[in-house]
Amino acid sequence: MAWSNWAGNVADRATLRCPRTPQEVAEEVRSAADEGRRVRPVGSGHSFTPIAQADDLRLDLRHLSGIVSADRATGRVRVLAGTPLRVLNQALDLLGLAMPNLGDIDAQTIAGATSTGTHGTGATLPGLAGAIAGLRLVTPDGSARWVDASEPDLFAAARVGLGALGIITEIELACLPAYRLRAVERPDALDAVLPRIQEHFDAHRHFEMYWFPGTRRVQTKANDLVADDVQEPLAEWRRRLDDEFLSNTFFGAAQRVITRVPRTVLPFNEVAARALSARTYTAPSHEVFVTPRSVRFVESEYAVPREAVADVLTDLAAWVERRREPISFPVEVRVAAPDDMWLSTGYGRANAYVAVHQFTRGDHRAYFAAFEEIVAAHAGRPHWGKMHALGAAELSVLYPRHGDFVALRDRLDPDRVLTNAYLDRVLGA
Ligand SMILES: Cc1cc2nc3c(=O)[nH]c(=O)nc-3n(C[C@H](O)[C@H](O)[C@H](O)COP(=O)(O)OP(=O)(O)OC[C@H]3O[C@@H](n4cnc5c(N)ncnc54)[C@H](O)[C@@H]3O)c2cc1C
Repeated sequence: MAWSNWAGNVADRATLRCPRTPQEVAEEVRSAADEGRRVRPVGSGHSFTPIAQADDLRLDLRHLSGIVSADRATGRVRVLAGTPLRVLNQALDLLGLAMPNLGDIDAQTIAGATSTGTHGTGATLPGLAGAIAGLRLVTPDGSARWVDASEPDLFAAARVGLGALGIITEIELACLPAYRLRAVERPDALDAVLPRIQEHFDAHRHFEMYWFPGTRRVQTKANDLVADDVQEPLAEWRRRLDDEFLSNTFFGAAQRVITRVPRTVLPFNEVAARALSARTYTAPSHEVFVTPRSVRFVESEYAVPREAVADVLTDLAAWVERRREPISFPVEVRVAAPDDMWLSTGYGRANAYVAVHQFTRGDHRAYFAAFEEIVAAHAGRPHWGKMHALGAAELSVLYPRHGDFVALRDRLDPDRVLTNAYLDRVLGA
């Protein structure tokens, strides 16, 4: 059965299995282990790395979707692992609850997103896996167990588990009462924002910046809590113009032109940086976080200690200026709080995230390689779902608990029922 990820840069022809219940998941894993086969769980295929690639059996948990139970008073919600974030967000909204933070799309499944350390932005907020209070894990021998803080090591490893320790069938989330955000988005100058970026990070619940390579222009987004009765909706025509036409339809057409005629990239970036004008609106949190993305790209993203972010951007800007590469996607800059999850980019460190993108038909190689060299000087930790060239030796230095994770994996999956080539590279065979 042919499969490829969202970006189209990873594909395989593994045998597809779609279990309908957690019990069927356990049976699939048990019989695969008995027969000496390999199993790979897959979510929505939104990782840019081959982390979800299967070379034997692919376990797709699309039927394990929806809320299992919810306690509005405590905010604890149990959800099936294959639930897409868009389904989760709507269901939480109906319950008067919301995720503490989200990334910028809602296509991923809850287990897929948390397993790679997916994050949003916010100096006081960890990645999505930080909201996990417990999870049900089918380990490679086919047995199921509930994992929570009462087993601190397994809990610290399994929340960002790369799909290497077992198949998650259910997750308990610690949600917040539903909240509204006021979004303030505006164009600015890189040279005005960058020297004060730490203040911006700390001044807002969520702050992010998009820098247009080859220009000194940025677009900033600051989202803060507002009272429930504040209503400043975004006009529908404005949403369509900014989020659908400028950010997708026009942007996609421009990418095709730039791929054919690379010298158009600089004028395009100057125009793009000015096309998105200032806007302020309020909406339920998940509507503010999530934006549509129809233009396909590839991406690399690294977490660096947040105080290093200005140096990273300065070096990247100098490289872009020197090389004049046709880079037509803005560079995204975010922030997150430290956490205690072993393979989380945020383990024990407050980070800024810098993400570089390139159109799928363009050539990303020189750009991403230069980016990786720049972040390497700041102990950059790669996002597990976004392109990077590192292997277990380098990662074991960057992630202080990498060795403990590998030891746990050796214990839980000695026969490597769950592995693939990517896991062999980043964890060791
Ligand atoms: C357009 C776009 C926007 C994005 N925006 C962001 C963003 O804002 N922030 C960010 O941090 N990342 C972002 N990402 C990256 C994305 O969130 C991650 O790669 C995420 O892991 C994808 O989730 P998925 O459901 O598609 O999982 P997949 O890519 O299918 O799988 C990811 C991993 O999860 C494992 N897995 C899946 N299901 C299970 C399970 N039930 N049990 C155990 N393991 C499982 C897989 O084996 C694999 O290792 C974005 C990606 C795209 C394409």
